[in-house]
Amino acid sequence: MATSVEDTRHCELPRPFLDLNTEVLAAWLKDRGEPAMRSRQIRRWLIGRGATSFDQMTDLPLALRQQLAADFTPFGTSVVQHLQSRDGTHKLLLCLRDRQLIECVLIGEDKRRTACISTQVGCGMGCVFCASGLNGLERNLTSTEILEQLLHLRNLLPPPGRLTHIVVMGMGEPLANLDSLLDALQAAGAKDGLDIGARHITISTVGLPAKIRRLADLGKQYHLAVSLHAPDDRLRTRIIPTNEKTGLHDILQAADYFFERTGRQVTFEYVLLGGVNDGLGQARLLADLIRGRHAHVNLIPFNDVPGLPYRRPSDESLAAFIGALKESGISVKVRKRKGSEIDAACGQLRRSALPQIPSESGRPEPASPAVV
Ligand code: SF4
Repeated sequence: MATSVEDTRHCELPRPFLDLNTEVLAAWLKDRGEPAMRSRQIRRWLIGRGATSFDQMTDLPLALRQQLAADFTPFGTSVVQHLQSRDGTHKLLLCLRDRQLIECVLIGEDKRRTACISTQVGCGMGCVFCASGLNGLERNLTSTEILEQLLHLRNLLPPPGRLTHIVVMGMGEPLANLDSLLDALQAAGAKDGLDIGARHITISTVGLPAKIRRLADLGKQYHLAVSLHAPDDRLRTRIIPTNEKTGLHDILQAADYFFERTGRQVTFEYVLLGGVNDGLGQARLLADLIRGRHAHVNLIPFNDVPGLPYRRPSDESLAAFIGALKESGISVKVRKRKGSEIDAACGQLRRSALPQIPSESGRPEPASPAVV
């Protein structure tokens, strides 16, 4: 089989340390006369203690640190762009080992430090208002690539920086890459890792019923957010093409099952597109769907995206939509917009950077933050 130039270069890059499984690492340590417990020690440095180089791991023998640096890289992803908005939101553009680009965001609010992370390069769901899905799905992220987003974001915080929440709402459909996501979240939840409990982690989905049920059966306390965006199948399929196969009924049944199994109230997300799904009649239909369910509705007024023909709803239609839901006794909130000056809507920064994917001469240098 022919190997392309790009594949060869990918293989020559040092392997990210966090990619190694326990057996491989134990064998590597044994070959160097080191005990297996070093593996945990090194992971703790990278995940729990914020080290960005092996050199910082001062309780390891110098020779081991040098061998680690020769054979591995602490991170397989690198920051190529760092934007910071006036409200303190940070957005990072990360370059992966195969030179794909992904985004992740750090949102600060009161005492919360929330990381919003991606699970795929691109997205196959094709939601019509979303920049991430415009070029379709490139590939799933590995669990290490998901975990490293959290570490890069945590490392932006002054010591002893600590993330308090995770929302899996960046690029990609999280439930389409569930195994890798769960591995990454397990590492994030470890006491000697990032110590972020499942109740502080929100997993968002356009609604893959079988995967929602699987998530429910895990016995974890993750919070589930299901993107509805329309109160009937005809309109929903226009907005989320994959709805044609799933349909609202199955998604809502799966969401009910999630609540029964976990006891956790489900959030229904609804992006309001001016003139498309923000009418009073649609609000009443949505209220009919949600009434009687243990659920909450998050309304997200659309952020204009260059190249997309949708617009923000007017203040009047937003107020009327909220009023109709409240009249029906539905718990509803409008999601606050953070980081509006830094292309914080999913996929916008990556899209604007795509022509600047690093050249063949090597990987780019880490970026300094640009405050915009
Ligand atoms: S909104 Fe989410 S699921 Fe839909 S295309 Fe964008 S990234 Fe994919």
